[in-house]
Amino acid sequence: MRSNTTHLTPALLESLATEGVTAVTPNRRLAVALKRAYDTAQQQAGRRAWAAPDVLPLSTFFVRTYQAVRLCADPSAASAANMPRLIDAPQSHLLWEEVIRKSDASTALLSVPQTARQAAAAWSVANQWQILDAMRAYPLHEDGQVFFAWALSYQQRCRELNITDQAVLPDVLANILISTPTNTSVREKLVNELLPKQLLTVGFDIVTPQVETFFQVCSTSGIVVGPLFDGSKPATTGTAAIAARIAAPIAAPVVAPIANTKRFVFATEDDELRACAAWARTRLESDGSFPDAVSSHARIAIVVPDLQNKRSRIWRVLTDALDATARAQMASGADAPQVSTLFNLSLGLPLNEYGLVNDALELIEFSQGRSLPFARFSTLLRSPFIGGAEREMAARAKLDAQLGDALAAEVSLFSLQKSFKLNASKRLENVARQCPAWMEIVNRVVAMPNEAATPTHKKVAGPTKRSPHDWSRHFTKVLSAWGFPGERALGSTDFQVLAKFRDALDTLAALENVQPRMRADEALVQLRRIVGDTVFQPESAEGNHAPIQVLGILESAGQSFEPFDAMWVIGLSEDAWPLAARPNPFIPAALQRRAGVTEASAAASLALDKRITDGWLHSATELVVSHAMYSDGSSGSSGGNQEARPASSLISHFVLQSATPITANYAEALQAVNAVHPPSLIPDTSLSALPTPTTVTGGSSIIRDQAACPFRAFARHRLSAKPLVEPAVGLDATTRGTLLHRVLSLVWSKLKSQATLLATDADTTSTIIDDAVQQAIAEVRADGAEMLVGRFAAIEHTRLCEVVTAWLTVERERLPFDVAACEEAHKVEVAGLLMRLQLDRLDRLQDGTFALIDYKTGVAQVKSWIGERPDEPQLPLYFQTAEQQISVLAFARLKRGKTFGFEGVSATENVLPNVTPIEQKRGMQDRGYVSWDVLIQEWEVALDNLAKQFVNGIAAVDPKNGGLTCAQCDLQSVCRVAEFNGVTIDAGANTDADDATGASDD
Ligand code: SF4
Repeated sequence: MRSNTTHLTPALLESLATEGVTAVTPNRRLAVALKRAYDTAQQQAGRRAWAAPDVLPLSTFFVRTYQAVRLCADPSAASAANMPRLIDAPQSHLLWEEVIRKSDASTALLSVPQTARQAAAAWSVANQWQILDAMRAYPLHEDGQVFFAWALSYQQRCRELNITDQAVLPDVLANILISTPTNTSVREKLVNELLPKQLLTVGFDIVTPQVETFFQVCSTSGIVVGPLFDGSKPATTGTAAIAARIAAPIAAPVVAPIANTKRFVFATEDDELRACAAWARTRLESDGSFPDAVSSHARIAIVVPDLQNKRSRIWRVLTDALDATARAQMASGADAPQVSTLFNLSLGLPLNEYGLVNDALELIEFSQGRSLPFARFSTLLRSPFIGGAEREMAARAKLDAQLGDALAAEVSLFSLQKSFKLNASKRLENVARQCPAWMEIVNRVVAMPNEAATPTHKKVAGPTKRSPHDWSRHFTKVLSAWGFPGERALGSTDFQVLAKFRDALDTLAALENVQPRMRADEALVQLRRIVGDTVFQPESAEGNHAPIQVLGILESAGQSFEPFDAMWVIGLSEDAWPLAARPNPFIPAALQRRAGVTEASAAASLALDKRITDGWLHSATELVVSHAMYSDGSSGSSGGNQEARPASSLISHFVLQSATPITANYAEALQAVNAVHPPSLIPDTSLSALPTPTTVTGGSSIIRDQAACPFRAFARHRLSAKPLVEPAVGLDATTRGTLLHRVLSLVWSKLKSQATLLATDADTTSTIIDDAVQQAIAEVRADGAEMLVGRFAAIEHTRLCEVVTAWLTVERERLPFDVAACEEAHKVEVAGLLMRLQLDRLDRLQDGTFALIDYKTGVAQVKSWIGERPDEPQLPLYFQTAEQQISVLAFARLKRGKTFGFEGVSATENVLPNVTPIEQKRGMQDRGYVSWDVLIQEWEVALDNLAKQFVNGIAAVDPKNGGLTCAQCDLQSVCRVAEFNGVTIDAGANTDADDATGASDD
């Protein structure tokens, strides 16, 4: 990206290059932009080497000056020598927390840290606008009184500790200048060595009274203060109206305003953003170098109010428009968060949103004995930032899969160690052996928690409190024990993030300036807050030079010295621009307005935002402004009756254009790419046939899966694809189903017939049920359901007893029967496919025929047995190969409610309650099921067909009911159905998870 330097005249270049001249800007971006423009201007002037200008943000200038003065302080100069220590924002925050906690008001607060944040903001406003003294005599509201008392306590603590914060720093420096006697060596040093001779300001919209006072003190001390770009007025040492003159570049810009502007209105914010992205791409394409960012000469700005909240969305839309393949790179682990070099988002992310920092914090927390949800632990286990992660990448993935079976829903270091030592299955042991580095790390970290509790200084009482400095070192040691940051070479982003995280650990250590001792958990909270408050944008060679710069509103102001080729400002609806007045709640609004606080007054806010809007006219050679009538997802945007938002009154005078074409979204962009470069398709719907007869594990679920989706059957039963088990809290649906099946089996193995049931009194029946439940719970617990103890087991016991007691009432009301078999395994063969089925129950009826019964704890209907692709083929399969004469197939529906009871079909009438011949079922005649014989024939054809398909390797991705079927499947990431077939997964589909039937087949 080239820099537009037409406004850096030789005279300005010379003034910037002069020794003793410092230029200050309101933000870092402007400082960088000014330096870049300066360098380019020097190059264009034919120079090969030049002195670097002293350009920096004003806040950095204050800190630099403070440090210089403090280092050079002459002991003879009381004001300089006794300079308070400067604390940073985290230390200030901690001090505010201390002050608030000690106050009576703290008991009524929901969150002290949150209140401390607001109090610190109010403190900053009070100092910047010099309101604190006025508050003494002002009739304060309740919040104002509380804040004022806190502010006095905070000041008192600062005095006691001889510290100061950045909110007060300009006053401290001004006082030093004022109080250092003239004609002394200290004064000479201050004015001639430590402070610049000339202080040039660039891009200030607002000059607060505090800054104005500082500038005036500088001015009276002989320092020339004035704006850099002030063509008509040379900088002087005069003190009058410095603030007005400094803000002058906005009001009297050096660049002529743009003659033609464009305004657009869009239906939704998404439309607006996509149109803006398309526009930016068009500008780049017309530059001729697209998509090469390095050789691009374009300078394009996209200005976004509320950039912080919209950051990820803007990144996504711009990436789609400019580089559809970049998202795929992200997914494959490219150096996040910015892949495309064509654009640069000026706003960074909070440090804790970077993977490296997030993992580091969780490793520390995990090492302190905290439990993590299994899903989070699973991610941590595979973190690339742990030692040995590269070498053991595949082995750790296998270990993760095994641990899903061995661990509970919450994982602690202790439970992890226990799972290896006490409960390890052979398979887990084998996989763990393949991860020696991981195992060594876990053992090393397990040995550390006691160390965390040991005081560094033995004389200090209390084993858990240590200095923040000690905790910082301890956390570093813990991370080192984990092999952090891993063995792979860090990319540029991660490298910078790591450096910033180390700074955060140093910041934690420095908290001992205000709190000498704290517990480990308190230290971790502070560290989390420090990284959460640190917004970090990694430097990239490409970032600042990217042809498209995405800026926040305030950054867009003051840009006229380096105008863009084109600028688009989005989101300018009436409710968003100008910004609404937002006075600080701890200071009376009237007092803030009187002091001139811009944010506190609608009029002042409007005036500032109007100046910024006018400034855009001088910040680019093409200006586009726009707004969306409806927010995304609002009822208005989807055809409802929400009122459309008008454009901001500040842009309504720009001429409205018809809407631009809207770019494709990601899927459409991908399709467009595929249309130009069609992917080669390899037909893979039919694979090699299996030799027959063939035995495949899976029981009736092979046919059920083949019917639901051929690819599902292939993946599960030929590739043995299994979902990763994620431990859940409590019993999962399969275990609950297994328990109920087992209890009913035990009960009927005792009773054996309806006659015995009817002859058994209620107490004895209860005892039989109770014993069966106890035995089933004990068996399932022994099988790994460790949570089945104590109160939880008692609740499950009661539930099972109630369900089975109610079910026996249903069984009492049937015609007489004997139970011929319970939970018996049978082998069946269909079309050369050998399967092993486990039948829930087989009853011998009065007429000598048999009833097949399938227990169901979820939804169960006869229609799941019919058609070419039956949903529940287990009973029809058994029926096909049964030696007995079967006259009834029935579901025993055990879910309490109105469907509790039997549901099925029979050869004749009145065999079982709610079980009828097929032709009497609603709608069955219409579908051709006119008799028992037809039903049997249809089953034979359908089941034979499905078995043949499986054996012959038919594996098409063909879900029976589209997204509804896929919603009940765990193979979406394998078949990629949503991506290639456009199937929308119906997340709301009834997954019928409370059903263990079929799980018992093998
Ligand atoms: S997700 Fe859908 S298409 Fe994919 S295997 Fe499962 S049922 Fe078939």
